[in-house]
Amino acid sequence: MRKSEIINKQTILLCVLMTLVSCRVQTNLPASPSVEETASLPKQNIPLPCENFKWLLPPPPTVETVHAPRKPITEQLNDRDRNHVGVKDPKRFAESNTEIIDLSLIPEEEYAFPLPGGKVISPYGGRRRHHSGVDIKTKPNDTIVAAFDGIVRMAKPYAAYGNVIVIRHYNGLETIYSHNSKNFVKPGDRVKAGQPIALTGRTGRATTAHLHFETRLNGEHFNPNMVFNFSTCKLHRYCLLCTRKGNNISIRTQ
Ligand SMILES: [Zn+2]
Repeated sequence: MRKSEIINKQTILLCVLMTLVSCRVQTNLPASPSVEETASLPKQNIPLPCENFKWLLPPPPTVETVHAPRKPITEQLNDRDRNHVGVKDPKRFAESNTEIIDLSLIPEEEYAFPLPGGKVISPYGGRRRHHSGVDIKTKPNDTIVAAFDGIVRMAKPYAAYGNVIVIRHYNGLETIYSHNSKNFVKPGDRVKAGQPIALTGRTGRATTAHLHFETRLNGEHFNPNMVFNFSTCKLHRYCLLCTRKGNNISIRTQ
């Protein structure tokens, strides 16, 4: 045998050996499971992190923010607040020319008809549109109550109004109760809806004992019929969309 033939045979043998070793390595590799095998694997319980992530969530809304349409109001009263009926609150329309007062969000216990059992004897406006409120009558010295929660802004005799009370409410409105025979509250007092504040009378310009009741926004009176249904003595369940145009306020229902 020639030397070159021997080398060739050795080379072929080496190649065969390498191939066999290579196959051996391949067969020793861990077999990857087939799809069927994967599906049939027992399910493992992967532990979830035990962290409490509640602090990441926003705080749940409180009853107050859900129900009462509370607005910022000026509670520090100056001389003008204590002595005049039509006074603007600088916090009204402070950020926008539009304010929404959603009467439907006021719960039953946060409003009261100002003279329970009263009947309207003279509407707002009237034939000459000069009447700035609604006249409601029951009997002399009957109990007048606060229509909503708020702070008493004014309580005193005031010209044709006679003994008058003005309450600034947290919903943005003000209400006025006039011709009272007696006032029970004073400026700065906080009152709750339904709390007795005065007795009906005929002080000021009045021919019979009754309650002259006004609703105002930013000092401007508007029809109390937009707030209360005077037939049922209930609060209307809609939104008041209030828009400021110069010194005037226009109010629409929505
Ligand atoms: Zn009147």
